[in-house]
Amino acid sequence: MSPGAPPEHLAAVVARIESAGAKAFVSRGLDRTIVGVIGDGSRMAELTLAGMPSVTTVLRVSEPYKLVNRQARTDRSVVWVGSGGREVPVGPGTFTLIAGPCAVESAAQTLGAARLAAGAGATLLRGGAYKPRTFPGVFQGLGKDALRILADVREATGLYVVTEVIDPADVDLVASYADMLQIGATNMQNYALLDSVGRQNKPILLKRGLQASVDEWLMAAEYVAQRGNCEIVLCERGIRTFETATSATLDLAAIPLVQRLSHLPVVVDPTHAAGRRDLIVPLARAAIAAGADGLLIDVHPDPENALVDGAQALAGAELRELASAVRQLPPMLGRRPALPRGEGAGSVRLGSPSS
Ligand code: PEP
Ligand code: MN
Repeated sequence: MSPGAPPEHLAAVVARIESAGAKAFVSRGLDRTIVGVIGDGSRMAELTLAGMPSVTTVLRVSEPYKLVNRQARTDRSVVWVGSGGREVPVGPGTFTLIAGPCAVESAAQTLGAARLAAGAGATLLRGGAYKPRTFPGVFQGLGKDALRILADVREATGLYVVTEVIDPADVDLVASYADMLQIGATNMQNYALLDSVGRQNKPILLKRGLQASVDEWLMAAEYVAQRGNCEIVLCERGIRTFETATSATLDLAAIPLVQRLSHLPVVVDPTHAAGRRDLIVPLARAAIAAGADGLLIDVHPDPENALVDGAQALAGAELRELASAVRQLPPMLGRRPALPRGEGAGSVRLGSPSS
């Protein structure tokens, strides 16, 4: 719709869409307003929306993902994580480091990892409370105790908490502690879980499944969006190929590709792709150069004694290298550090308001 469209014109369009049993999703941008429509295509054509006041273009989106499609928004989205006027942006214009321990093991270990993360430039803290492990007999996470620890560490450090949820029955509980809900690679097509987080009022970090094509990944995001939650950040974490020398093969092409297909932010997790510490910083640099909106990195104050993924946790020299890459490279590509709103350069709101 045209930039100056008065509210009554917008309301009339939405009413006509809803009268045909379809759903309307409104995205207001600076230059135009986009009304996304999910419904029966042939019925929509009969609505003659094109003739309505302030409607400038009616476009049929042919891809199976509609709401997360690049065409559904005026600009690429910025997803805000956190609350109280100190939200941290993830998206174009800024660069967000999400770092922390693979798993929450204790209060001291989590606080130690959070301090390392913050020192490297992180504004979001990751940490697993529920760990989906390949082998059933090993540490599966501290569950609710870990959620309490994460909330305490947020209090102590100001870092917002990103943590994985693996069971639809735990979504309300995890959402009551976390600032962002992570859907792990192994759960990307767990539709009961996608349904449940789609009804939450917290942003989602959606990891790409090990065997998922880009289209399947975007359809998983569409699933969440159509349940009402459009605050989604996609995370490329490597896919399974014939190569076994690394845990997974980081798909660098997916970064610019997905940014063309979808308006959602794309962050990259080189930790779980590489599976070994010495490859993480080079992959992180490559991801930044390819246009990633942020990185997700495992750090640990004592990797030798980590209960999970110690061999791929950064500490010491590698973490310092990562910190310098994160400080130096994004500004060369026109990105500022993603600081909480109201704190320095990150405070300028970028992109269109989230809907
Ligand atoms: C994680 O980030 O802790 C994790 C388990 O990663 P993934 O789901 O990508 O394997
Ligand atoms: Mn890990």
